[in-house]
Amino acid sequence: MSSFLVIGAGISGLLIARLLHDAGRTVQVLEKGRGCGGRMATRRAENGRFDHGAQYFTVRDSRLQTWTDTWLARGIARQWFETLEPDNEASEAHPRYVGANGISDIPKSIAEGVDLRTSSRAFRLDRKNELWTVHTGDGVRHQADNLILTAPVPQALDLLGDKTNEFLGEAENRLRAIRYAKSLAVLAVLDGPSGIPNQGALPVGTAPLTWLGDNQLKGISERPAITLHSDAAWAEKHWDSPDEIRVPPLLSAARPFLGSTILSWTCHRWGYAFPESTFGRPFFHNPSCRLTMAGDGFGGPRIEGAALSGIEAGNFLLQR
Ligand SMILES: Cc1cc2nc3c(=O)[nH]c(=O)nc-3n(C[C@H](O)[C@H](O)[C@H](O)COP(=O)(O)OP(=O)(O)OC[C@H]3O[C@@H](n4cnc5c(N)ncnc54)[C@H](O)[C@@H]3O)c2cc1C
Repeated sequence: MSSFLVIGAGISGLLIARLLHDAGRTVQVLEKGRGCGGRMATRRAENGRFDHGAQYFTVRDSRLQTWTDTWLARGIARQWFETLEPDNEASEAHPRYVGANGISDIPKSIAEGVDLRTSSRAFRLDRKNELWTVHTGDGVRHQADNLILTAPVPQALDLLGDKTNEFLGEAENRLRAIRYAKSLAVLAVLDGPSGIPNQGALPVGTAPLTWLGDNQLKGISERPAITLHSDAAWAEKHWDSPDEIRVPPLLSAARPFLGSTILSWTCHRWGYAFPESTFGRPFFHNPSCRLTMAGDGFGGPRIEGAALSGIEAGNFLLQR
């Protein structure tokens, strides 16, 4: 029976692996990070607990709703809010879901029982005699008949090295055109409650901020812990600036909403926050070399898009 190697343990890669695993296939996931989840990341910093990448997810498709219902039933996910403007009939009302103790609860639960190797950065791929070999930074070689790349598309293309033309054929140009917006995340601890309304969820439409989230009001941090996200222009401009230059203007812009003094902060760079365009199909597949690519660069620029890409790619591989 075919074997599968999945590169990347974000939600798309994990859903593919889960579907294959549950159907009895041999599948292994290689993830360069210390934990799984990719951009669905929760971490402790400065004595607070923060969702520092994705903040919540929405569900419009029944296939993701089925998974979400299971997470809700098991207490892994819960609803955060439905609308930020309850008095405005024109505002879009639909559930925004979060992980019970942070957004990374969701990928962790998908990974249960799956053969997942963390701290395993794939750095070279070879295909010989109908077999893929993936070399990871720990000196191990992993082999399988099928390879599934779910890293952000530019990173996945780098991995394919100088063989892209052989593996991607005429899709190469379309794949190379997929670019991602950057973002800076600042994680700040306050000495008292924040003034962020709406249960701690505040989209900000004024540069350089896009988002302020209060992780205490959200229910995942014991201390007042704020996540700030910059817009793409600020992140691009200050990608290599020292924190002392790029962070204070973000904190100043947030100050009117904070309500308390900032005790400490740390800054994280997201090089591939959101795809600015997508492939136009939920996944890429080349049957001649058994290569599949999936993720939000295919399914759409949010958790739901990435998840649906994973579900569609996983089901496709099972039916082959
Ligand atoms: C700041 C920010 C805010 C966001 N806010 C929201 C939000 O509120 N709601 C929403 O729906 N979406 C949000 N998103 C987008 C959402 O997080 C992503 O669309 C989704 O998580 C992408 O999942 P994925 O599986 O496609 O990719 P990823 O989550 O990026 O997973 C890819 C994985 O591949 C791994 N990888 C890469 N290269 C290698 C390698 N060489 N070897 C091994 N592993 C490798 C990475 O470490 C990563 O874990 C946000 C993203 C960011 C960054």
